[in-house]
Amino acid sequence: GVRHEPTNKIVLDLERLYDEVSEELAYVARYARAIQQQRGDYNGRVLSIRADDLRALAIVYDISPSGLIERLTEAGVLVADPRAFFAS
Ligand code: C2E
Ligand code: C2E
Ligand code: C2E
Repeated sequence: GVRHEPTNKIVLDLERLYDEVSEELAYVARYARAIQQQRGDYNGRVLSIRADDLRALAIVYDISPSGLIERLTEAGVLVADPRAFFAS
């Protein structure tokens, strides 16, 4: 089949993010809802976000951007490869 370059894009799994019961990711969820609203992108299961916005969010959490990525990964709300995500 066709091989794709791995993406470094930050892609959120919205279902998992919005189902997240812990308060920890509440700001990320609120931010994602605001981005959906700004784009008019309401029907997606995933949302690609700007690297700039991740940096801003990391400041809110008082950690490095890579530290925030680690937390999001641990919480299982990041999609590593959206194409594989839809294939599964
Ligand atoms: P804007 O930043 O002036 O962008 C205008 C349009 O350019 C966007 O309309 C989108 O079609 C395109 N665009 C800009 N940057 C990118 C990009 O990195 N990738 C892609 N694929 N397209 C891009 P859209 O999506 O309707 O957004 C309207 C406005 O909402 C944007 O105006 C911006 O002010 C805000 N917005 C949307 N998404 C985000 C976001 O993820 N972060 C931030 N900070 N603002 C956003
Ligand atoms: P990709 O970036 O790997 O995204 C794969 C699929 O994930 C997309 O399929 C879409 O269903 C979903 N997806 C990713 N980000 C978002 C998001 O922010 N909102 C929503 N609602 N869905 C998202 P799709 O749309 O068929 O796109 C296939 C491929 O086409 C994308 O792969 C990307 O490589 C390219 N593409 C689509 N739209 C844009 C765009 O606005 N800008 C750029 N640069 N590429 C795009
Ligand atoms: P993408 O569309 O594949 O864009 C990849 C990168 O190209 C963006 O990374 C940004 O650095 C640059 N880029 C693309 N379009 C524009 C533009 O219109 N203006 C400027 N200044 N830069 C642009 P970034 O910002 O980290 O965004 C990552 C992904 O988040 C984008 O991938 C896209 O899927 C999504 N995204 C970001 N901003 C918007 C937006 O305003 N609207 C929509 N619909 N999607 C966005």
